[in-house]
Amino acid sequence: MAKNYYDILGVSRDATSEDIKRAFRLIARATHPDANPGDPVSEARFRDAAEAYEVLSDPDRRRRYDRGDTIDLSDLFAGFGGFDDLLRSVFGDNSMFGGAARGRPTRGSDVLVRVEVDLLGAAFGTDAEVTFGTKNTCEVCSGTGAEEGHGQTTCPECGGAGSVRVARRSLFGTMMTVGTCPSCRGEGVLVTNPCPACSGMGAVDGERTMTVEVPAGVTSGTRLRISGRGQSGGRYGPPGDLYVEVMVTPDPRFERHDADLVHHASIGIAEATLGTRLTIPLVEGGESDLEIPAGTQPGTVFRMAGLGVNHLGRRTRGDLHVVVSVTVPSDLNADEEEALRRWAELRGERTDRPASAG
Ligand SMILES: [Zn+2]
Ligand SMILES: [Zn+2]
Repeated sequence: MAKNYYDILGVSRDATSEDIKRAFRLIARATHPDANPGDPVSEARFRDAAEAYEVLSDPDRRRRYDRGDTIDLSDLFAGFGGFDDLLRSVFGDNSMFGGAARGRPTRGSDVLVRVEVDLLGAAFGTDAEVTFGTKNTCEVCSGTGAEEGHGQTTCPECGGAGSVRVARRSLFGTMMTVGTCPSCRGEGVLVTNPCPACSGMGAVDGERTMTVEVPAGVTSGTRLRISGRGQSGGRYGPPGDLYVEVMVTPDPRFERHDADLVHHASIGIAEATLGTRLTIPLVEGGESDLEIPAGTQPGTVFRMAGLGVNHLGRRTRGDLHVVVSVTVPSDLNADEEEALRRWAELRGERTDRPASAG
């Protein structure tokens, strides 16, 4: 006997999609399991209302339901977000029902954590420890949601198979198809006595600390996906994924452009003119000499090949670019000034200030 979705939501058969949404909202608010923990009547009403809403809010499904077709519910709450997405679409993101809802096969939520690494760690990879609040699989019932020993029974409707044959009317007559068992939602078992530790959810609020391998070459904003390490789906589905967003702390010695690094160095006018040797810091630690040839102009860039950051996903490194600026001294003492004037004379440079300026 098919359920009357219109009766469940208390709307007429010609209700608009707005009417249907409003009706489901009211029922969901009053009967949501998070608001009525452990109340089986509320939970059953909530499940029915959610099912009715899922069917009637989709024009195609509603048309098929009105026609008397069998609606396969197995795909309704499957996939990313699933049931959470439904609640979010009705209540908005910051609703009181942001967490995983009970009563439907649903994947555990994804978790996003941020981790800070220094430039050295970003350049060559590092291990980072992250701690985050999450839902962990209930240890008491191993995630089944059933009380140990006697809390679970084979689903009588499908005999434990999780699927049932259903009749579907079509142009060619009645056809038998295999669908998800509506009693156990495909689990093959029914929980008769819920696990007291997790109220039958199979998952409990908790905290998790784990070490994340940050690969070489990450930049700020790189997101690492660690499959299956998000919130536990409890007895209703697989765990979500853990996303780790990397923040790279800036290093004052280097500007970073993907795998290349830029270091700024300053030399004096005599060093630029006569040539010199600079000591350049390296991202891996230590330093390297850099020959500055005579006659180096301000803004000249010297490339130190292969001394940048590791390319993400490759074994090669970018380059280190050294931008050389030339500092013009403004604090000459008498001896220095005399020497420079002498040098200017030899070069034929005019160093006397124009009369108007003096
Ligand atoms: Zn449990
Ligand atoms: Zn079943």
